[in-house]
Amino acid sequence: MPATPLHDPVASPLPGAATETKNTTCYMCACRCGIRVHLRDGEVRYIEGNPEHPLNQGVICAKGSSGIMKQYSPARLTQPLRRKAGSERGAAEFEPISWDETFKILEDRLRHLRSTDPKQFALFTGRDQMQALTGLFARQFGTPNYAAHGGFCSVNMAAGMIYTIGGSFWEFGGPDLDRAKLFVMIGTAEDHHSNPMKTALAKFKRQGGRFVTINPVRTGYSAIADEWVPIKPGTDGALLLALVHEIIALGLYDREFLARYTNAGQLVNQNADSDDFGLMLRNAEGDVVNPLRPANFYWWDRHSQQAVADHTEGADPALLGKFKMPDGTPAVPAFQLLEERVKPYTADWASGITGIPADTIRRLAREMGITARDQKIELPIAWTDSWGKRHESVTGNPVAFHAMRGLAAHSNGFHTIRTLAILMSLLGTIDRPGGFRHKAPYPRAVPPNARPPKGPEAVKPDTPLNGAPLGWPESPDDLFVNDQGEPVRIDKGFSWEHPLSAHGLMHNAITNAWRGDPYPIDTLMIFMANMAWNSTMNTSEVRKMLNDKREDGEYKIPFLVVCDAFQSEMTAYADLILPDTTYLERHDCMSLLDRPISEFDGPVDAVRIPVLAPTGQCKPFQDVIVELASRLKLPAFTAADGGRKFRDYPDFVVNYETAPGSGIGFLAGWRGKGGEKSMRGEPNPKQWEMYEKNNCVFHHQLEPSQQYMRNWNDNYMRWAQGAGLRRDRDPVVIHIYSEFMQRFRLAAQGKKPTGQGPKQPPDRLRQRVQTYFDPLPFYFAPLEEQATDTTRYPLNAVTQRPMAMYHSWDSQNAWLRQIHTHNYLFVNAATAQAQGITDGGWMWVESPWGKVRCMCRYSEAVEPGTVWTWNAIGKAAGAWNLSADANESQRGFLLNHLIKEELPTAGGATISNSDPITGQAAWYDVRVRIYPAGPDEPEQTWPQAERPMTRMPGMVEAPKRRGWMAGMGMGKKGGQS
Ligand code: SF4
Repeated sequence: MPATPLHDPVASPLPGAATETKNTTCYMCACRCGIRVHLRDGEVRYIEGNPEHPLNQGVICAKGSSGIMKQYSPARLTQPLRRKAGSERGAAEFEPISWDETFKILEDRLRHLRSTDPKQFALFTGRDQMQALTGLFARQFGTPNYAAHGGFCSVNMAAGMIYTIGGSFWEFGGPDLDRAKLFVMIGTAEDHHSNPMKTALAKFKRQGGRFVTINPVRTGYSAIADEWVPIKPGTDGALLLALVHEIIALGLYDREFLARYTNAGQLVNQNADSDDFGLMLRNAEGDVVNPLRPANFYWWDRHSQQAVADHTEGADPALLGKFKMPDGTPAVPAFQLLEERVKPYTADWASGITGIPADTIRRLAREMGITARDQKIELPIAWTDSWGKRHESVTGNPVAFHAMRGLAAHSNGFHTIRTLAILMSLLGTIDRPGGFRHKAPYPRAVPPNARPPKGPEAVKPDTPLNGAPLGWPESPDDLFVNDQGEPVRIDKGFSWEHPLSAHGLMHNAITNAWRGDPYPIDTLMIFMANMAWNSTMNTSEVRKMLNDKREDGEYKIPFLVVCDAFQSEMTAYADLILPDTTYLERHDCMSLLDRPISEFDGPVDAVRIPVLAPTGQCKPFQDVIVELASRLKLPAFTAADGGRKFRDYPDFVVNYETAPGSGIGFLAGWRGKGGEKSMRGEPNPKQWEMYEKNNCVFHHQLEPSQQYMRNWNDNYMRWAQGAGLRRDRDPVVIHIYSEFMQRFRLAAQGKKPTGQGPKQPPDRLRQRVQTYFDPLPFYFAPLEEQATDTTRYPLNAVTQRPMAMYHSWDSQNAWLRQIHTHNYLFVNAATAQAQGITDGGWMWVESPWGKVRCMCRYSEAVEPGTVWTWNAIGKAAGAWNLSADANESQRGFLLNHLIKEELPTAGGATISNSDPITGQAAWYDVRVRIYPAGPDEPEQTWPQAERPMTRMPGMVEAPKRRGWMAGMGMGKKGGQS
């Protein structure tokens, strides 16, 4: 008798079974591919990529297809829970309560805080993509204490690029690999832009493109690179400055591009006695196209040898030289200052810092410059620039770059990324074919128009904030500080400590609230962030802070609300748990107001449509926000008659407009009463259905003449202004030299530049601001390295995200756990052997702040001065409903125990371990030493949690048998039958 096959892939569905396929959008990572979910009798059986989706064109990855096991994960929370009276935080003793009771608790508490002191409520959200909604809620509530995860993720990438070229990587721009000839990837392992990057790389390589990666570790994309250039972590800025030095020294920069499209030719005031020293000289009677952002600069015209208004017809700006204005003011073009700045940054200098041979640096610079110069692309697309000049074609220099968190997550990351943006500009590759291309809604102004509130008077009882809680300061006037120059926000964002903290500093919120610096808060609501484990630095201490009490017996952070779909290390500390849905059970939108999925050729937004009903009593967090906002009668959520304005989140998305009658809402497709309009139009009651019929995605393709050179493309700017993507249509000139930075420096020097208000840094921060707010990039060793004895701690330690898991989301995923069930510390074999550590042996890795026992794995794919591991594989015992002896907690480990959220200052105080400009968390700056574990030590990870986490009410027992999968005995409510 032949054995019955376990699974017959071509067999018909069960007789009588109802099968259907539904479209939605994946959220197993932040890439957001289109997916088709196959259901049988209402249960998910199979997930595939949607071939008609513009982002992934049918491609799906291991995570995406494993979404089925997330849906039916035993770690799912299924009902609202309240910490039992008398039980301690962290003991995870909870009782179920109804949503009515949950909302009543929240409503009463938040109403009181709003009517007395709104900043006592803080809302911090993790890797969500609904910040347009949560930010609106915070603003309407009136609390300044709001941010999402950007400050501990990649704000340096966003800010460094946006303050220079008006756009950034990933969602808002990327490499044009269809036409590039040379592609250089720096500081990127597995990426947010996962499937599109992989498919583009495959095509790029098939077309004969050359792919170079620069990274301390050769994993992920680097594994298929033509050349891997190992580099020491935190030294990318030195390499990039040396590349800029070489490109300038060899004359390989695109002079024409620099002169017309950047501020390289603008004249800078060089009168050291002036309060305007280092600012652009301005012609008060000059052509002010936009009074909100005057563009009345000077060039030194090489033909007439005099100062003229920038972009004067027929003028050609000098980029080098020293000049005198008619009133005697000494002036130089900004490019002259850049050239002087990078003079000492030679390849030999950089080699000693980065570990890259000087010849390699020189060769790479030549290759970039010559490829850009000699392999030009010309597309027969006529266009007109912002100054009225018609161009018969679009040209491009086919050198493309991509960079991410490896550059960003250092305390020197802002200047590093500014240098990268300047290098890309010198090569003439911004929004041109074969180089970097923007994605809507970018390019935006440098910096974008949103500003944070300006002082404590912005926070008033029962009143919305007068500005978005987050924004883009362009001078000290925009700082969110009190009269003494001290922070208004709990995370100290937009203060003199971190003036350009455009994404906030979530990594300091708990520590600051615990210490009461700048003040204590009452309620902290956390959504989708594992702040008691892998989303926090200094994990062990932060867990203690969450449990710490005041003298009167109250917790130092009195009320903690956690909203998540899964039990995690964080839920143990909650006073109230709100069970979220999975991505398969919710409406959601990838909005142009937030984080869309635009393509180079035009804006794209997308939705999620529920393919399943919520499990148990799970409720989408968006619905929780709309409900709370309605109950609290926040103005934007309340009708004129005082009743609620929106039934629920789907109703909100359809009917919300950014201003009455603006026609701009969360979704750009199928607007207008009957869905006949796009980008702008009246609310359409059938909008969700129309998205559903169109693969859950809306894609507006720009005309070819609008697709390139968008910083300065008149036709594009007119369209973007009409569509509501831009307030103004003045050109977005690239800031090789940042006078915005100089404005902060001048204030720190006690100067009062023209038009600038009186805000001054506290004396203890003057030198810091003066040093780091340099209008041109410079290199400094990461702050933690400067504060560490590098002889005792000679190695760098970094983490990376694996391709098969996204942060901690997948530890409960039975399929993906089979790929990563525990992690190793990867150490170059020579480095490990020098310490007597064996391959596979137990070892210690120790920083000045803590130590971890883990297992070693030899690797040749890591530069000898670096050790690394996968992020978020290690777990606390019992977390995520894994058994207390699971590999994740017994053999897996978390490097975060070694990383501190604060550094000591010279005065004996502490300051955030972050970039001094943006507040970006310096995850990758930690220094460590390694040594073997003793022969008598247990073969178990250390530290271990005090007690294993236990299952919470409403969670199912984790399955014991192997081969468990959906359709093999799972109940439809997310539990095992
Ligand atoms: S790349 Fe991300 S969004 Fe795309 S299928 Fe994989 S997990 Fe889903």
